[in-house]
Amino acid sequence: MTTLPDLLRAQSRFLLTGHENPDGDCVGGQVALFHLLRALGKTVHIVNPDPLSASFGFLAEHTPFSVASGQELPAIDVVVLLDCAQLSRVGRLGRQLGASSATVAVIDHHVGSEHGDGSVCYVDSTAAATGLLVRRLYRELGVELTRPAAEGVFVSLVSDTGWFRYSNADAEVFQTASELVALGVDSAHIYDTIYRRQHPSSPRILADTLLRHRLLLDDKLALVTMDKALIERASSADFDTDGVLEPLRSIDGVEVVALLKERYDGAVKCSLRARGDVDVQAIVAAFGGGGHKKAAGATMKMGLAAAERAIEQAVQQALLAQSDGR
Ligand code: 5GP
Ligand code: MN
Repeated sequence: MTTLPDLLRAQSRFLLTGHENPDGDCVGGQVALFHLLRALGKTVHIVNPDPLSASFGFLAEHTPFSVASGQELPAIDVVVLLDCAQLSRVGRLGRQLGASSATVAVIDHHVGSEHGDGSVCYVDSTAAATGLLVRRLYRELGVELTRPAAEGVFVSLVSDTGWFRYSNADAEVFQTASELVALGVDSAHIYDTIYRRQHPSSPRILADTLLRHRLLLDDKLALVTMDKALIERASSADFDTDGVLEPLRSIDGVEVVALLKERYDGAVKCSLRARGDVDVQAIVAAFGGGGHKKAAGATMKMGLAAAERAIEQAVQQALLAQSDGR
């Protein structure tokens, strides 16, 4: 069976992509892989289903990003999915790639990603970030990290560990961060660039959203919904809805936080975060979603009110199963 390092060595034209609304882990991993493949003399394109969020714009200074336009794709041998494992998470571009003859490779750290659309997989669900996996590929292929690549890996790490706060921030994360800083990555500057350039309306959007939260199931579930009107305000201010989750997860006694966002197509995007031992990946799996034990999401094909009831019920069952198991 071909391994991913073999495939990267053997083929010459690559397209790197990832999930819709690419987050820091996804785009940081793409930056690092782009420079790895260029160092190996390959042709590389990064094409995402959605534009880069303005917070990550600085990454584009040294790395060319493009957005799928529905036009013909460049001639490629391999498409690499980063931070996801299914072409269905890549929107219309995913369908276009699925219809092409390119080999699909996956670099991912989600539970079960070895069973996705990749015919060649580089998956480790214990890794904190996809960018860490790309960092491992540099070692396997004997390539040195450049400063732009190091910045990509750093953005991956900080995005998926909540700036080193979450339980996935393990020794490899801290060792790698130390190496990256030694290579010249300016941690404080990157923090300012990503998190301290918010739109003036963002405190109000955050406050209005937090005020809508409800504590349910004996205050173990904090649930908050963003209807279309609020989502509209959030997207016009490029507001990162992740900022809503942490204050709710900080409430003493809360075990699960659920953020439900109404989408324009009538579906609901749900984000779950766990604090204790509840496995939120198992909860969203029932709705066709995925992720990690403590952070997972799904797109639910139902209205906001129905999604709220469904999530409350599913979390209630998970909490009951947990207390039975004790
Ligand atoms: P977030 O809540 O930040 O969107 O995502 C949390 C985690 O769950 C991330 O690792 C993300 O990749 C995963 N995730 C979010 N939405 C979906 C989804 O619709 N399907 C799958 N398979 N994973 C998702
Ligand atoms: Mn990730």
